[in-house]
Amino acid sequence: MTALDLLDLDPSLTEEERQIRDVVRRLVDDRVRPYVADWYEEGRVPARELAREFGKLGLLGMHLSGYGCAGASAVAYGLACQELEAADSGVRSLVSVQGSLAMYAIWRYGSEEQKQRWLPSMATGESIGCFGLTEPDHGSDPASMATRARRDGDDWVLTGGKMWITNAPIADVAVIWARTDDGVRGFAVPMDTPGVTAREIRRKMSLRASLTGEIVLDDVRLPADAQLPEAVGLKAPLSCLTEARHGIVWGAVGVARDCLETTLAYATTRTQFGRPLAGFQLTQAKLADMAVELVKAQLLALHLGRLADAGRLRPDQVSVGKLNNVREALAIARQCRTILGANGVSGEYPVLRHANNLESVLTYEGTSEIHQLIVGQRLTGLSAFA
Ligand SMILES: Cc1cc2nc3c(=O)[nH]c(=O)nc-3n(C[C@H](O)[C@H](O)[C@H](O)COP(=O)(O)OP(=O)(O)OC[C@H]3O[C@@H](n4cnc5c(N)ncnc54)[C@H](O)[C@@H]3O)c2cc1C
Repeated sequence: MTALDLLDLDPSLTEEERQIRDVVRRLVDDRVRPYVADWYEEGRVPARELAREFGKLGLLGMHLSGYGCAGASAVAYGLACQELEAADSGVRSLVSVQGSLAMYAIWRYGSEEQKQRWLPSMATGESIGCFGLTEPDHGSDPASMATRARRDGDDWVLTGGKMWITNAPIADVAVIWARTDDGVRGFAVPMDTPGVTAREIRRKMSLRASLTGEIVLDDVRLPADAQLPEAVGLKAPLSCLTEARHGIVWGAVGVARDCLETTLAYATTRTQFGRPLAGFQLTQAKLADMAVELVKAQLLALHLGRLADAGRLRPDQVSVGKLNNVREALAIARQCRTILGANGVSGEYPVLRHANNLESVLTYEGTSEIHQLIVGQRLTGLSAFA
């Protein structure tokens, strides 16, 4: 860590921020790192157990206040995401979806009753949440979603399906976004409601230590109070995505750092042609370029985190961070893999697992192309989405 901190960024964090980072790092070292390669290989993860562990430490809905949430700063939450993702993007996804998507949606747009019902048990990890926006035929363009919610007396009846939903196979509650006669609305849907089914998506080659599912909604009847009263229009789910994307900006730093730490250790001890790999100029050029990208990504994350804590972070600024940091983390993971040679494709080292995970991170929470369009719109004033 110290060798990679080329710009002495550590002192830019407060003592409290460093402590939070180190506590999460220790938890991850203890509860995730020793096991995650097996979880990945087997395509399973003890998500409920992990959620309870993370809940004990206050990591779930960490940046929210009240209802058992820790009320931490955006930077502290970012640092937690960084350490979680340094172990595995799937584990960070568990925490992001729970806290930034499902809990945030209820916290920001729910009624007092909905908050009391769900948030305290989600903060402890007793209840798991998921966030259903993507559909089989509507991903980057959620405005054209097909899932419908219609009124029947006081009740709502939901019909449709959501696809690629993190945590869905084990969720207790899903925040489902659906089209109504008045536009998009959000619903807190208990997963045991008749007509709701969740099927796990298997054969993923990425984020294998994360549960992903399809949710089918077959005439799901919900009471009127299942609707999130403050969520009006598509800007509600998009604001939740901004929260989660901020965590990803930091998570990408963690994963890039882990790749580089692994690779530095490897390159300084592995010898070819009578000298360590790290002694070759070509290797040093790779290491130097990657370390420069890492500190740039760290600076970007810290700057965006500080803006968030000052209440001044705009969604298009989060797009700058997500676009850059995930793209660069993926480039770093792939480059690190080359330095590890054959060991680079082995699960004994985390590097290719990280690279494969980042393929999902590049796509979810807005693909790179969508973030380019958001930044492009900011630059030109022209929307090029459709
Ligand atoms: C492991 C995993 C977990 C996920 N978890 C969740 C979750 O919890 N909740 C949830 O709601 N969703 C989730 N998603 C879904 C994810 O958000 C979507 O996959 C993503 O939004 C992209 O949608 P799509 O896959 O349908 O791709 P598409 O929208 O079909 O896009 C395909 C390609 O076309 C490009 N493209 C699309 N439109 C344009 C355009 N206007 N201009 C230029 N290029 C364009 C895209 O950038 C992409 O390269 C998850 C996905 C994965 C892989």
